[in-house]
Amino acid sequence: MNPWIAKAVTLAASVVMVLIRAPHGRRSSKVKVVLSRKGPREVVLLTIAWIGFLVPLIWAVSSALSFADYALHPWPFAAGISCIVPGLWWLHRSHANLGAYWSVTLELRENHQLVTQGIYGWVRHPMYAALFVYAIGQLLVIPNWVAGPSYLVAFGVLFALRIGAEERMMLETFGDEYAAYMARTKRLVPGIW
Ligand code: SAH
Repeated sequence: MNPWIAKAVTLAASVVMVLIRAPHGRRSSKVKVVLSRKGPREVVLLTIAWIGFLVPLIWAVSSALSFADYALHPWPFAAGISCIVPGLWWLHRSHANLGAYWSVTLELRENHQLVTQGIYGWVRHPMYAALFVYAIGQLLVIPNWVAGPSYLVAFGVLFALRIGAEERMMLETFGDEYAAYMARTKRLVPGIW
C-alpha cells in the first residue's frame, strides 16, 4: 500500500484530536484552578507526551524519519483505523462528560464535582483508555519503527507515572465518594483492570 494514505490518516486523526480538545480546553481554562499538583515531574511527563504526539506528524510531513520506514500492509492498516476511530469517539465522549473539570495536568477547579456518569460509569479513566486505543491505532497505521510506537510509548510513560498521583489527589479531595467509585469501577478496561 502507498504510505501516503497512512500519512493522510495520521494528519487527519491528529487534527480531529485537536478539534475535539480545543473547545474543552478553552472552556475549562475559564474556571479557576483551586488545587494544582503540576510539579516538575508533571512538566517532564507532559513534554514527553507532546513529543510523542509530534513525532508522527513529523513523519507524515517530512522525510526526516524515512530511515525507519517499512512496508504498509492492508491488515494492520485496517486494524489501526478500527482503533483510531473509536479512540477518538471515546475521547469526545469523555470530554463531553468531564466538561470544564478537564485539565491537561493534575488540577482541581472551582466547585469541582466528581463525574461518575456516562462513560465515567464504565471505567475511572475513560480519557486515558481512549488515548491508549488511539495510540495502538497509530502503532498499527504508521509503517515506521520510530513514529509508529511514538505516542504509545510516550503516553504509556505519562500514564504509568501519573495514575497513582491522580487517584491519590482524587481520594484526598473526594474521600469516601471516590473510594466508593473505585470499588465499583476499574481503571481502564471494564471488569478487568
Ligand atoms: N483520568 C481521567 C481524566 C483525565 S483529565 C480520564 O482518563 O478520563 C485529568 C483531570 O481530570 C485531573 O486533573 C482531575 O482533576 C480530573 N478528573 C479525573 N477523574 C475525574 C472524575 N471522575 N471526575 C471529575 N474530575 C476528574
